[in-house]
Amino acid sequence: MTETQTSIMPLLEVCNLSISFTQYMEGLRQKSLQAISNLSIDVRAGEVIAVLGSSGSGKSLLAHAILGILPSNAMISGKMRYAGENLTPESQASLRGREIALVPQSISFLDPLMRVGEQVRPSMRNGNSSAIQREIFARYHLAAGTERLFPFQLSGGMARRVLVSIAAATNARLVIADEPTPGLHPTVVKETLAHLRELADEGDAVLLITHDIAAALEIANRIAVFYAGTTIEIALASDFSGEAELLRHPYSKALWQALPQNNFIPLQGSQPYPDALPPGCLFEPRCQLSSHECKAAQPEPRHLRGGTVRCFHAA
Ligand code: SF4
Repeated sequence: MTETQTSIMPLLEVCNLSISFTQYMEGLRQKSLQAISNLSIDVRAGEVIAVLGSSGSGKSLLAHAILGILPSNAMISGKMRYAGENLTPESQASLRGREIALVPQSISFLDPLMRVGEQVRPSMRNGNSSAIQREIFARYHLAAGTERLFPFQLSGGMARRVLVSIAAATNARLVIADEPTPGLHPTVVKETLAHLRELADEGDAVLLITHDIAAALEIANRIAVFYAGTTIEIALASDFSGEAELLRHPYSKALWQALPQNNFIPLQGSQPYPDALPPGCLFEPRCQLSSHECKAAQPEPRHLRGGTVRCFHAA
């Protein structure tokens, strides 16, 4: 493989990923819930791809599937490849926390009974771990002595910086940030996003999972829009502009138009639950462009104007 092929090849490829869960109903009756269906996405070194969607769209499940930490009642189909190799439970276990790092949603991920320096150092594979940990803390503006503090002694912003430090300490090539900003002060949000962008600029691939379109647009190269468990559009971040004329899917356009700084037009209706998905296009019940075709079948993803879209009528 040439150097050029390596640099353009996605570090992570997810093809037609479907995840369902078996649930017990009354008695011993079982029911299968389709949480993600035919989801495809790729992540390249040096880029931030933001996975954007509302709660329940399947965003965090994607992160857990890549890391191999889904619950045991999950059934998975489709392919996931990392650096050209199929991801298997064994390879996921050896890559997790080494080549693939997670910046988790909640700061409760930190062990409350352990000093934070001790929580960062085990992520390092080589060198003087104390010196490297201090270097990383300094880079993220964590003052000398922070390493001796317990999580409850940190502010929200400091705890976030410790979580990003853990990802930076692993020397991971793929960083998955799962909703890293909710509930944070705007200054801390900006800072956390800047740290993620910095990791991508240093050559990592960053998958940012968020429901915050403004946060996504701040640092992402591309945006994958999720709806009801699948990607309905993958677009360049720069396509989110003007009157949304560069966007391809009616839902992406509606998300953009609903922002206060745009036309503040609310989108009627709500995302369907996994046990009540419509038979055709998943967005059909809310779509003003719906036709007979849209009610009958789900559109397949197709390339359009440098992006990907799942819509029969996108042009
Ligand atoms: S396929 Fe039809 S219903 Fe679905 S988004 Fe496109 S126009 Fe709307």
